[in-house]
Amino acid sequence: MLKKKVKWLHIPLWGLLVGLATVLLLGLSLVLPGLSGKDGNGGKAKAVVTEQKGVFPGLDLKTTVEDTDAYTSAVSAVSSDSEQVDAPIREWIAEQERAFHGELDDGGKKSKKEQRAHLNIGLDPKQAGESLYSLVFTSYQFTGGANGMTKVKPFIVDMREKRPVALSELFDLEDPETAAALSEKVEAAIKSQSKVKDYLFDDLLAMAVNDPAAWKWAIGDGMFSVYFDEYEIAAGAAGVVRADVPYGDLSLFMEPDAAARLGVDKPSGTIGSDARPGADVAPLDPAGKYIALTFDDGPHPTVTPRVLDTLAQNDVRATFFMLGSQAEFYPDMARRVAEAGHEIGNHSDSHPDLTKYGMDGIRSQIKDSARKIEAATGVRPDVFRPPYGAVNDAVKQIAAESHAPIILWSVDSLDWKSRNADAVSRLVAGKVHPGAIVLMHDIHASTADALPRVIAGLKQQGYQFVTVSQLLGLAEDSGVGPYFYRE
Ligand code: ZN
Repeated sequence: MLKKKVKWLHIPLWGLLVGLATVLLLGLSLVLPGLSGKDGNGGKAKAVVTEQKGVFPGLDLKTTVEDTDAYTSAVSAVSSDSEQVDAPIREWIAEQERAFHGELDDGGKKSKKEQRAHLNIGLDPKQAGESLYSLVFTSYQFTGGANGMTKVKPFIVDMREKRPVALSELFDLEDPETAAALSEKVEAAIKSQSKVKDYLFDDLLAMAVNDPAAWKWAIGDGMFSVYFDEYEIAAGAAGVVRADVPYGDLSLFMEPDAAARLGVDKPSGTIGSDARPGADVAPLDPAGKYIALTFDDGPHPTVTPRVLDTLAQNDVRATFFMLGSQAEFYPDMARRVAEAGHEIGNHSDSHPDLTKYGMDGIRSQIKDSARKIEAATGVRPDVFRPPYGAVNDAVKQIAAESHAPIILWSVDSLDWKSRNADAVSRLVAGKVHPGAIVLMHDIHASTADALPRVIAGLKQQGYQFVTVSQLLGLAEDSGVGPYFYRE
């Protein structure tokens, strides 16, 4: 039987007290109804259902995943309530998608699964000042052949004024001295990189660094960064080139108002904790009838709280395979999942098909994500689920390096396809088996709608709910997998 730890029961109460104090201080009456204390479940605190705001106020991140016979794609898009902010981002993403689908249509006959095309648009957001953000998008397209194609596009936005920010607001580009100083520092930052300097095309480099008005630039983490696409200034082996120049080296040339705005370069607040809720539970009964519910692609600001609420009401522990990018954007939400005692897994940073990437690309997708998830939750994710379940030897090797077994699934709820609560609950109830790992997504409202019925149906069939690590622990096997289920 599963024993509950007393320590674990206290965490939601603490969260509740802190939340209540915050609410009283801020006078935010609108979340009060969600704080209505306890449910009928032995006095245990109920999860609070409120929309979770991200660390980039005014901005929402949404990762949309598609999985078809011809291609897979995962597109991270940012939106706000400002058309001025949204339009350029939306247009750039649409342009990437058009180019990708154009290639697909031209290509015709590639239907073999391992040759499926792939589009990944990922986001690296940075805070640069109180209301200033750099949203750095990377688009990776694979439409056949040996290599994919990578492009980088930063968008700098001021969320107080709700508009894009131009480089000329930071530096007077008309002033020859300023422009020359900028070019010189960027060029030096490029040439100082040992991985890049042997591949540079001198003429293209000179042209690119001397045209600041055309730069793809970003600010944040104390750096002014300029990005150059593959082949823009160097041979393909150098990949995308980034020049980082510390603010301090540029402060003399910066417009006074910009310097004041950038001066408050505060890191996004993430709080770690040593506690690992639910990590030390009693061993399972080998004869028990167990099932592991898993939720992918979150955390999501409105759906994840509803899923947590239903799990808490039913005293069910599950496993959440988070995207690093989503956890970075919604760290409070990610932390709440961990604090509720659920297992935290890694689902990559931006949901690419890892089998289309080289070793370095796979490694950074897995490790960046683990770092972001740990920063948000205080928990190092120790299980890994590759996007689309796509695995090859390289993915296995890097999962083994990361000591994170690969967890796939035996029951696919197809919630992403049907988006229908009835269909999801019927499908799970019909396909479930002892030791099953059930795949769902905490990003669709219909999944949150279905969950109470899914759980009720499984309880009726006598199932007990465990995390995937508990399920794996039933067998004396500590390999890398991939694991689909446990008998
Ligand atoms: Zn996924």
